[in-house]
Amino acid sequence: MGRVTSSAYEWSTRHSVLTNARRTAALVNVLSEEDTGPEAVAEVLRAYGERGPLTLTEAEVSALREVARELRTVFAADGTDAAAEALNQLLARTPGALRLSAHQGGTPWHPHLDSSDEAPWGEWFLASSCLALMVLVWDQQRPPGGVCAADRCTRVYLAQGSGMARRYCSRRCATRSRVAAHRARS
Ligand SMILES: [Zn+2]
Repeated sequence: MGRVTSSAYEWSTRHSVLTNARRTAALVNVLSEEDTGPEAVAEVLRAYGERGPLTLTEAEVSALREVARELRTVFAADGTDAAAEALNQLLARTPGALRLSAHQGGTPWHPHLDSSDEAPWGEWFLASSCLALMVLVWDQQRPPGGVCAADRCTRVYLAQGSGMARRYCSRRCATRSRVAAHRARS
């Protein structure tokens, strides 16, 4: 891939549906840890392409944490229908209407469900997450993700590819569970 092509590729993939959905899962996970503060949240946002100074307040982190708790219901839903219902509950609370934004040329055109580009973080998190997860349900007709099946792990993950259904947040949890199951049998 040439330089121009690869930067054009990066330009669009950085804002793809899958990237947004992955950011949602990462934020739900970091916000479910009690000691997560503004800097840890900003770090995740930056890792997913957010630019600028990113100075969040404790109050904004609390608002994000509340939304993360609600978004978890989509990941915890049992089956496609339940995931769609959970998403509908949350979509009913986004301010809408659906609009396109390119953030004054700073990004490719992409859809937004929040009230404006200057919407509060909590509103943005709910709207952008619902939008991405909704497109995944639409496109794949399956739950967009799940909650890790490993003992004492509550992290969420995103369903990926078309292979075997995923059950764990990480390779580490999958291995840990396999070892535990093996011990229990022997
Ligand atoms: Zn796990």
